[in-house]
Amino acid sequence: MPEKKFVRIKCSDCENEQVTFKRVSSKVECLVCGARLAEPTGGSSLFKGEIIEELGASEEGE
Ligand SMILES: [Zn+2]
Repeated sequence: MPEKKFVRIKCSDCENEQVTFKRVSSKVECLVCGARLAEPTGGSSLFKGEIIEELGASEEGE
């Protein structure tokens, strides 16, 4: 099973859904309200919102 590279995350403030890298290299903010959605930690990512789903590099249905 290939590693998922992206996540769909829902902003806890405005419920906007946004796709970002699973491992972010810089802070990610909500495009709608500007709330912090994710930030890099040592080798991983800290997500502030709710992760709706994880996405592979290419979407193929399932
Ligand atoms: Zn938001």
